[in-house]
Amino acid sequence: MISLSFDDGPHPTETAKILSILRKYSIKATFFTVGKNAELYPDILRQISDEGHEIGNHTFSHDLGKKSTLDTIKDELKTNHEIILKICENEPKLFRPPGGVLNQHTLKEAKEMGYKIVLWNVDTKDWMHRSADEITETVLSDVKSGSIILMHDYISGNTNTAEALERIIPLLLKEGYCFLTVGQLIQCNESL
Ligand SMILES: [Zn+2]
Repeated sequence: MISLSFDDGPHPTETAKILSILRKYSIKATFFTVGKNAELYPDILRQISDEGHEIGNHTFSHDLGKKSTLDTIKDELKTNHEIILKICENEPKLFRPPGGVLNQHTLKEAKEMGYKIVLWNVDTKDWMHRSADEITETVLSDVKSGSIILMHDYISGNTNTAEALERIIPLLLKEGYCFLTVGQLIQCNESL
């Protein structure tokens, strides 16, 4: 059992491409969305949710770091929480800090808001404009049962994520992996 996760969207064309690939294989994934992008493309965010994928909070502006104050963190988490709730009519339960960077305030606030903090264990580094081959190779060499694979549906500049995904899914299905949302994967692990 593994999970695919896509960060930083929604994006009008890339998210749509990824959704269509996931639909083709009847796979549900988790999207950690950024509030300012959701405000620009609310229909895409709604589509992610309507198609049965899970949506997690990835802050409003993606501008959070080691030195962020409690006020900033509260604002970043709450603003995006409200946006997701309003557009998808579903409360997000997962939080992924930008860059995986956490400080004590982020930990405290996320916990207070009832969030589970989610990182990843397979990093495709697709945001570095890596080729579809490189992304595919990374996933195939690093994946194991329980993996959370990190990809991006929004990067600045050209991206090969969708092309790589189209290769990765059939290969992993052939190896016997099944795909769960991150929330489902966490639940499975907790009940073991
Ligand atoms: Zn991010």
